[in-house]
Amino acid sequence: MDEIHLAADVSNHAHRREEALRELGVAVHVHDASINAVPPLSLTPSGGGDHFAVFTPYFRKWETAHRRGVLRAPRRLAVPRLSGDLPGELHRGATSPDLAAGGETAGRNLMANWARTGVDGYADLHDALADDATSRLSPHLHFGTVSVTELLDRVGTASEGARAYTRQLAWRDFHHQVLAARPRSATQDYRTRHDRWRRSDRDFEAWRDGRTGYPIVDAGMRQLAQEGWMHNRARLITASFLCKTLYLDWRRGARHFVDLLVDCDLANNQMNWQWVAGTGTDTRPNRVHNPLAQAKRYDSEGTYVKRYLPELSDVDVRHVHEPWTLPDDERAALDYPSPVVDLREAADRFAAARGIGKKNGTRR
Ligand SMILES: Cc1cc2nc3c(=O)[nH]c(=O)nc-3n(C[C@H](O)[C@H](O)[C@H](O)COP(=O)(O)OP(=O)(O)OC[C@H]3O[C@@H](n4cnc5c(N)ncnc54)[C@H](O)[C@@H]3O)c2cc1C
Repeated sequence: MDEIHLAADVSNHAHRREEALRELGVAVHVHDASINAVPPLSLTPSGGGDHFAVFTPYFRKWETAHRRGVLRAPRRLAVPRLSGDLPGELHRGATSPDLAAGGETAGRNLMANWARTGVDGYADLHDALADDATSRLSPHLHFGTVSVTELLDRVGTASEGARAYTRQLAWRDFHHQVLAARPRSATQDYRTRHDRWRRSDRDFEAWRDGRTGYPIVDAGMRQLAQEGWMHNRARLITASFLCKTLYLDWRRGARHFVDLLVDCDLANNQMNWQWVAGTGTDTRPNRVHNPLAQAKRYDSEGTYVKRYLPELSDVDVRHVHEPWTLPDDERAALDYPSPVVDLREAADRFAAARGIGKKNGTRR
C-alpha cells in the first residue's frame, strides 16, 4: 500500500492512528471531512486562547462565520481498485431491535420532511419527550449521509423553530472544537472538580438496565437499548442521574452510550457527558436534573414513560412517575423495582462531595 487518504477527526485516537500509519512508512493524506458547518479551531476568542470554553460567545461568532456553500454531487468518482478482503461484520454484539433506517436515501428524505414540516415547531416542542418532535438526524450527521451545510441551508432562519434548531447544530461544532483543542478530554475531566466517584456495580447495573425505580430514567435507558438512540432531554436526565444522583463516574455512563448510540460521536458524547457531570463547559457545574421535576415538566401525562415501560401502562397518571405512591396491593402487583436511591440523600451526598451548601437540585 502506497498511500492512505483519511477524513480528519478531532479525537486523540484519530491523531494516534495517523501517527501509527506514518510510522509504517505509508504516505498519509488527511482531508477536511467537512462534517462541521464551521471547522474546529477556525474561530478563536477575541480575548485570547486557542478555543472557546463557553458556548454563548462561541455561538455569536459562529453565526456570522463564513460557511462554505453546498457543492453539487460529482457525476463520477474515481476510486482505487480494492484488493484483499474487506472487513465483513463491523458491529459486534446485538443490534437494537428498533434501529432507524440508515443510508443516504433515508437521510435525505428525513431532512426534506424535517425542513418542510418539522423544524418550525422545534422551539416549542424539542423538549416534549412524548412528542418525539426533534429531527432524529444525528446518525446521518455523524455518518455523513446528510451534509450539515445543506441542512442549514434547507432549514434557513425564517422561523423561531429554525433559529433554535440552528443553535443546536452550533453546539455540535462547539463540542468538536473543545475536543480538537483538548483531545484528552475524551477520557479526562476538562475541568476537574476533584470528584471521588462511587464505584457501585449494583447501582450502575440498575441504571444501565433501566431498573432504577425512577420511571423517567428507566424509560430513557430502555429507549436507548431498543432504538440505539435517546431523546436529548432523556439523555440529560439519565446522565445527570448517573453522575449526580448516583454519584458514579461519567466515564462509565459515556462508555455505555458509546456501546449503544447509533449517533455516537466522541466529541458530542464525551463533552455532553462532561457538561452534565459538571466537569466540562457548563457554567453551572453543580446543577442537578431532579428526575421527578423533569418528568412532571417534560412528560406530564406519562406518555413517554408508558411507551418504554409497558409494565406501567395501566398506572394512573397521578402515580406513573412515582409508582411508590400507589396503594401497597397495586404496587406489589407491578413488576417494577423500588427506587435504588432516595433523592434527598443523594442530593446531600452530592452537595457534600462537591463542597456546596445547597442541597436541592435545580433544573435546566
Ligand atoms: C449525555 C449526552 C450524550 C450525548 N451524546 C451524543 C452523541 O454521541 N452524538 C450526538 O450527535 N449527540 C449527542 N448528544 C446531543 C443530543 O442529545 C443529540 O445530538 C440529539 O438528541 C440527537 O437527536 P436529534 O438529531 O433529533 O436532535 P435535534 O434536536 O433535532 O438537533 C439537531 C442536531 O443538532 C445537534 N445537537 C443537538 N443537541 C446537541 C447537543 N447538546 N450537543 C451537540 N450537538 C447537538 C445534533 O447533531 C442533532 O442531530 C448527547 C447529549 C447528552 C446530554
